[in-house]
Amino acid sequence: MPFNLDVHDRAVYREPAPIARDDPFESMMERFDVAAKILELNPGFYEYLCRPARMHITSIPVEMDSGRVKVFEGYRVIHNNVLGPSKGGIRFAPDVTLNEVKALAAWMTWKCALVNVPFGGAKGGVVCPPSEMSADELERLTRRYTADLFDVFGPDKDIPAPDMNTNEQIMAWILDTYSMHARQTENAVVTGKPVGLGGSLGRREATGRGVMTVTMAAMERLGLAPGDCTVAVQGFGNVGSIAAELLADQGCTVVAVSDITGGYYNGKGLDIKKMQTYVQENGGTLEGYPDAEQITNEELLTLDADVLVPAAKEDQIDEEIAEDTGARIIVEGANGPTLPEADTVLRDKGVLVIPDILANAGGVTVSYFEWVQDRQGYFWTEERVNQRLDRMMQDAFAKVYETAEKHDVSLRIGAYVMGVRKVAEALRLRGIYA
Ligand code: NAD
Repeated sequence: MPFNLDVHDRAVYREPAPIARDDPFESMMERFDVAAKILELNPGFYEYLCRPARMHITSIPVEMDSGRVKVFEGYRVIHNNVLGPSKGGIRFAPDVTLNEVKALAAWMTWKCALVNVPFGGAKGGVVCPPSEMSADELERLTRRYTADLFDVFGPDKDIPAPDMNTNEQIMAWILDTYSMHARQTENAVVTGKPVGLGGSLGRREATGRGVMTVTMAAMERLGLAPGDCTVAVQGFGNVGSIAAELLADQGCTVVAVSDITGGYYNGKGLDIKKMQTYVQENGGTLEGYPDAEQITNEELLTLDADVLVPAAKEDQIDEEIAEDTGARIIVEGANGPTLPEADTVLRDKGVLVIPDILANAGGVTVSYFEWVQDRQGYFWTEERVNQRLDRMMQDAFAKVYETAEKHDVSLRIGAYVMGVRKVAEALRLRGIYA
């Protein structure tokens, strides 16, 4: 049956699906709808692909250092596993919601399909204040969350990884807890773990490295030389700090970065390595960093820098920021940083937006390499990891660019078209099991 879905009529197709319409999920759906229309997606497949396959909610009791038991809410959403075991990070944050996790899980489905790794999409979250919790409390929380989801996780089922406020140590606790229950060491159950436990060389830097690779590819398309470009980066965590470092290594002048404590500007260029050391030695933030002028986050987003890398969280670039930004290229290190209304403004202004599901796919690509290495029991050199990552990111960028040109759409819609098409094709081949 042809699929003549008018974007304005899409509610007809989505009802009676009980999908809450909050922002990150709605942002994802708006783009998915456009891709579905271009692909003339079968209506039944549309209905199937816009819902998560499974959602798990767990109450996690944790004995705090004070001796009091507190209960935290945890989520794991499996959006889709048509292409393989589901894959996606775990986010610890006081404001994380089930709908945000649902959107992030769906983005993982399209991202894995787009970069050609044999995984479906998932995401996890725990509503907790990680910066106010001790390492012991975080360990007890992580272990109980893992034990609760023991039947969900697995190297062939669902493979978690780090996301906001989760790191290698937390992945090590997941590995250990899962392995204790499985009665054998299962290092392929989680990625982004320490190298000493079967982690991959290059994984920690992979997302930032992918951001750098696609930025270089975009500059080449626009005829810009890295040495002539200024860069602003929002977020100075795993993704933002590495992206800033590697872009500076390529010759770009990084004039501003920000974190939760605000923005830091130096028109002559910031010393990114010095800032990384400062963060390590000063409680994890840039607060009080001396060699920069303090600016607000909004000022950072609207600077006249040639390249803007949002690498903090969702919904940062709205219509107004889009109007005011001086960037020529926006590279979405974060998931979902740009609202759909802002996309239109940016396109009209001629700003090239490299969408999240392409720009930050370096992380899941090297997670895939890590999983492959664990399963083979044979570990690659960092050079091999980086070479393969660079090649996959360059290929993905080129294919998204061609797809966007072919359909005369933005790179974002081009990326969705590629991701959704691949999943829909696999679904067609597998068929619907009755
Ligand atoms: P992180 O916790 O290491 O760092 C987040 C950074 O953002 C911190 O510097 C924090 O201070 C800053 N921040 C938080 N709120 C902010 C705000 N309102 N304004 C400015 N800065 C703010 O997290 P991360 O792993 O770097 O993830 C960042 C983003 O990248 C998230 O959207 C995540 O989903 C996405 N992502 C991460 C990976 C990965 O491999 N880590 C992969 C793909 C996508």
